[in-house]
Amino acid sequence: MKPIVPLLIRAQSDEYASWLTCLPQALDGIADARPVSDLSEAERARAEVAIIANPDPKDLATLPNLKWVQSLWAGVERLVAELPEDGPRIVRMTDPQMAETMAEAVLAWTLYLHRDMPRYARQQQERVWLEHPLKLPGERTVGVLGLGKLGSRALARLHDNGFNVCGWSRTEKDISGIETHHGQAGLTEVLSKSDITVLLTPLTQETRGLIGKAALTTVKKGASLINFARGPIVDDSALLAALNDDRLNHAVLDVFAIEPLPEEHPYWAHPKVTVLPHISAPTVPATAARIVAENLKTYFDAGIIPPAVDRTRGY
Ligand code: NAP
Repeated sequence: MKPIVPLLIRAQSDEYASWLTCLPQALDGIADARPVSDLSEAERARAEVAIIANPDPKDLATLPNLKWVQSLWAGVERLVAELPEDGPRIVRMTDPQMAETMAEAVLAWTLYLHRDMPRYARQQQERVWLEHPLKLPGERTVGVLGLGKLGSRALARLHDNGFNVCGWSRTEKDISGIETHHGQAGLTEVLSKSDITVLLTPLTQETRGLIGKAALTTVKKGASLINFARGPIVDDSALLAALNDDRLNHAVLDVFAIEPLPEEHPYWAHPKVTVLPHISAPTVPATAARIVAENLKTYFDAGIIPPAVDRTRGY
């Protein structure tokens, strides 16, 4: 009898349909993956692992023998907050394709800022023909906060593109040819020298509000910010104040404290803010389903659970 793997996926209908095609296909011969709502009580009791994305905690509670959950998302702050500490282990999505997609997004929006596109867009609206001096990538420093699966790939892509780069992480790193920092002093160093700062840390107790009033007083004058991590890492009032008093040049924001961003939020109409609807690196069902299948096969063949989230660290 094949193991039962409940699917607890709350997503837009097209995305949901895509998962319901890709996951059973990738898991063919490995497990019987079906929406939790289709499972009997006895089948739910047999499940040791579930595949989840934005699950309803009430549905998870109907699976009494879960040992671990495979999240389809890279960010797990909600699961860490909602699942009991002695509950199933949380395995997050780590897909090399997602790292490539994120690195591409970081490069694209860094180039947008580097080539002064927001300023030229404003000039077009005002019918102003005015050239500004060109800077070369090597004359710009891009700081990446968070050097994990996504940040390290983004940093390498920026470096390959000729930018002067530096990185910041919780623990000390040694990346050949790259300047890296850690700890509070390291953060100040990176913020004070970066023309563009890219946020790619997870949301944890330590990173909530990381980019607040104090940090924003240490940024290089006229720098820009890209937040592709999680909204609450940035203090919105402090960011708006820094943009309004010209300490910051521009912010590209893909993630927000409340999503979708409420219609009345000042970011929408702010001339120095680019709002994106959380699109910098979506999970790609076709590649992610293969990662899930490998993880599940290893578990069912050898009893090995993939590296899980450290509940104390929060990521
Ligand atoms: P990861 O592999 O876990 O890496 C996290 C990095 O952040 C590590 O380098 C870690 O430091 C660093 N970090 C954590 N806490 C820190 C702290 N207090 N101070 C300094 N550095 C800290 O995570 P990832 O896969 O790269 O993903 C990062 C985040 O991107 C996810 O958590 C998610 O929220 C976000 N994300 C967004 C999108 C989107 O579409 N916008 C898509 C995917 C993911 P150490 O190396 O020292 O541990």
